[in-house]
Amino acid sequence: MADAIQNKTKRCNHCKEVKPIECFVKNKIRKDGYHDECKACQKEWRAKNKEKAAKKWKIYYKKNKEKINENKKNTPRQIKKKQQRKENPIERNIKKKYQNIIKIIE
Ligand SMILES: [Zn+2]
Repeated sequence: MADAIQNKTKRCNHCKEVKPIECFVKNKIRKDGYHDECKACQKEWRAKNKEKAAKKWKIYYKKNKEKINENKKNTPRQIKKKQQRKENPIERNIKKKYQNIIKIIE
């Protein structure tokens, strides 16, 4: 496995071709840090197995729901929104109301 990294090539488990390491998606779980299938094969597989992939994702989502949602909550945009809400929720509401009134008057 170490040789594969040194030579920067890897044999695809699917098409059995030896390809440069850039042709493989990184995967921390794997011993050598890359997927066993090359990107082209993964793409092909995904195109052929859209439904299967969706199911797989659903299962993954169910198992990791909290983790995924937690990550969603903590995007920079969401954090900013949260902070704004915390800082002055009332002022923002008033602003909105006034904006509507101003629109009507104008
Ligand atoms: Zn391949």
